[in-house]
Amino acid sequence: MNFLSLIEAKREGKRLAPEQIQGLIREFTAGKIPDYQMAALLMAIYFRGLTTAETTALTLAMRDSGDVLTFPQDSRPLVDKHSTGGIGDKVSLPLAPLLACLGFRVPMISGRGLGITGGTLDKLDAIPGCRTLLPAPQIVKLVQQVGCVICGQTDTMVPADKKIYALRDASGTVPSIPLITASILSKKLAESLDALILDVKFGTAAFMQTKADARKLAQAMVALGNECGTHTRAILTDMNTPLGRAAGNWLEVKESVACLAGEGPADLRALVIDSAAHLLVQTRQAKSIAAARKLAETCLNSGEPRGKWDEMIVAQGADLKAFNRKLALDSTAKAVVEVKPAKPGFVTRCDARIIGEVIRDLGGGRLTKESTINYDVGVDQIAKPGERVEKSGVLCRVHAADSAAAAAVVARLVSAFTLSPRRRKAPPLIQGQIG
Ligand code: URA
Repeated sequence: MNFLSLIEAKREGKRLAPEQIQGLIREFTAGKIPDYQMAALLMAIYFRGLTTAETTALTLAMRDSGDVLTFPQDSRPLVDKHSTGGIGDKVSLPLAPLLACLGFRVPMISGRGLGITGGTLDKLDAIPGCRTLLPAPQIVKLVQQVGCVICGQTDTMVPADKKIYALRDASGTVPSIPLITASILSKKLAESLDALILDVKFGTAAFMQTKADARKLAQAMVALGNECGTHTRAILTDMNTPLGRAAGNWLEVKESVACLAGEGPADLRALVIDSAAHLLVQTRQAKSIAAARKLAETCLNSGEPRGKWDEMIVAQGADLKAFNRKLALDSTAKAVVEVKPAKPGFVTRCDARIIGEVIRDLGGGRLTKESTINYDVGVDQIAKPGERVEKSGVLCRVHAADSAAAAAVVARLVSAFTLSPRRRKAPPLIQGQIG
C-alpha cells in the first residue's frame, strides 16, 4: 500500500475508498505504517474531515481490528450507554444494575479518566477487591449470568483505537468529529449491541463547550450507529454544573449507591431514569418515554438494583463486607474541610471545570496516563444553582490527603460559586434529543 499517496489525497480534500481505509487500519494495527505518517494523515483528516461513508468505513475497520464480543442467543437485548464525560458523572454505576433488573444484558466497557474528566473504571477501582480488567470470555459469562458487567477494554478489543488515540493525544488531533465518532463507536460496536444511548455533554467541563458543537457530534454518532445496525439515540446534557452533589472517585461510588437505594440527588436520578427509559423505548420494551420512565422509576425504587449492584461487584471480585464498612464512613480521606461562602445568597453558578481541576490537583485525576490516583479525595455536599446558602452554610466540602492540601484549594473552590441576592432558575439538565 502506498500510504504517502493516501496522505496526499486527504491533504487535498479527496475521498478515500472504503478498501483504502480498511487497508490502512489493517497495516497500522500490524505495525507496518510508522507513527509519523499516521499522525500526518490524522492531521489531514482534522482539517479536511471525512464523509459519512469514510467515517463508517473507518469505524468498522477499527471495530474489526480486534475481538468483537459474541453473546449466545437470548431474549434479553444487549444495551449500553456512553457519556462524553464530565464532573461528577457517575451515571454508569447505578444504570448498569438498573438495566439488568429491567431485563437487559449490559456489557459496559468503560474507560479511565484523563485530565479533569473522571473515568468509570477509576471509580470501580475505589471498591475493595473489585477487578475491572476481565478477559473477553469472562465478560460474556458475567453478562449472561448477572446481566451486567462494568470493565475495561481488553488488550485484544479495538487495538487500532488504542494506537490511534495515543497518536491523536500527542498530535493535537483529538477534537475532530469524525475521529471522535469512529473512536467511540468502534468500541461500542465491538460489544455487539442492539441499542445504545449516548449522553453528549456541553459546557465548561465538557469535551464540547457549546450546545451547537455537542449537537453536531451527537448527530454524527447517531447517524453512524444506526447505519451500523445498532439502534442509537443521543441526549444533550448540561455540563456547566457538576452532576449530583459529589465528585471524586470514592465519593461518587457512595452517591451511586444512594441512588440505587432510591435516594441521592435529583439530577443524577433523573439522568439514570431517562437513560434507562430511552433504551426501553429503543428496544420496544415500552411504548412511550413517559411509560418507560415509570417502569424505570418503579424498578429503581424497588431496591432490586442495589442487590444487583452487590451481585455485580462480587462477581468482579469485590469484598462486600469491606465495601459496606467503607460505605458507612463519612470520609475515607485524611482531611475534610467545609467551604463557606463570603456572604449568603442563591447559587447562580457552580463551575464544574474549576471543581474538576481542583479534584485533579488533589490527586483524584490524572495529569498524564501514568499518574497514580488518590481515590479518597474529592468534593461533596455541593450546593447547586437555585439553592440558597446561608453565611454559616456550606458551598461544598473538600476531602484531601492532608489539611494543608485541603486549605490550599479552598479559595479556588469558593471562586467556583457565584451567589446572588435573587434566586435564578437553574437551566434544565437534559436539553435535547437526537434520534
Ligand atoms: N472518547 C473516546 O473514546 N474517543 C475520543 O476520541 C474521544 C473521547
